[in-house]
Amino acid sequence: MLAVTTRGDGSVELTDVPRPTIEASDDVIVRVTAAAICGTDLHFVRRPLLPPGATLGHEFLGVVDEVGPEVEHFSVGQRVLSKMFVSCGRCRACRTGNQPRCPGYQLFGGGVLGGGQAGYVRVPRADRTLSLLEESVSDAEALTLTDILPTAWEALERARFTSGETLSIIGSGPVGLLVAQVALARGAAQVYVVDFDETRLARAGDLGATPVMGGASAVEDVLRATGGRGVDIAVDAVGSVAAIETAQQVVAAGGSLALVGVVAQGDLGLKAEQIWTRHIDVLPVTGNPYTSNDLLEAMIRAGRIDPGSVIDHEAPLSAAVETYAAFADRQFTKAILRP
Ligand SMILES: [Zn+2]
Ligand SMILES: [Zn+2]
Repeated sequence: MLAVTTRGDGSVELTDVPRPTIEASDDVIVRVTAAAICGTDLHFVRRPLLPPGATLGHEFLGVVDEVGPEVEHFSVGQRVLSKMFVSCGRCRACRTGNQPRCPGYQLFGGGVLGGGQAGYVRVPRADRTLSLLEESVSDAEALTLTDILPTAWEALERARFTSGETLSIIGSGPVGLLVAQVALARGAAQVYVVDFDETRLARAGDLGATPVMGGASAVEDVLRATGGRGVDIAVDAVGSVAAIETAQQVVAAGGSLALVGVVAQGDLGLKAEQIWTRHIDVLPVTGNPYTSNDLLEAMIRAGRIDPGSVIDHEAPLSAAVETYAAFADRQFTKAILRP
């Protein structure tokens, strides 16, 4: 089968790899029908954080193709969505709704577990990891439920968001746009989205957010719009020191700084005079589809949010190399690959 794999030199390639097989009695093999490319995949490829030959992709859905003997809730032919990572279900973290902190955490396409940008994927602990997809939920909507929509949701949860608060989101990529959507649906008074890209800013404006052009004047623009006070919650949705520097300058004293972008190594660019002196809560954010997806699916079905709108490009899996290059070049916001 075809799979998108890392070359180890900052790029990806298409490789013919063996189809996965059932290894544990609670595995399911899923035939992938749609997989999305995430900013995290680019991060893995560019650093490079993964060894050569790793199959990428933690955002995927498909059809149950084969079922291990101990799987109780799934059968061949069902349309299913996978969560982005596997957890044990038994440890303290899992029992208290903190699955991302599970010692058994394994991200699909993260170097150990094979990823979903492939013809088939082996899904361990399938009764927990998979969920049945209703026909009314589109592929694009469902793909956001694997990672980016629960991540957007978790940013607001960790910041203890309440209606009537103001936010500033630095970066109007897929996750930034979803934080804006969810915050507005939950009653945010104002959402200021900062980006350099006019097209992406226009999309933020279409959602009902207030676009702010990035650059030297962005901090001043947000502060002026909030009467000099700053916003209750600032969100770094880029994962760069520059974005975090902007975010900490626009957040009001006593507010929250949610770090949604991946900055896994080195300096965060936090300044004591911004953070400690002004009592800012700094909150690293990881999405948890295990705890949030029932709520988010209800929001989608009720028409409160339209997360599928952040996916604006589709390509066959066979065009993955070009699609990765175009994604890195910001030619679209987010893409689906079809095996
Ligand atoms: Zn992702
Ligand atoms: Zn666990």
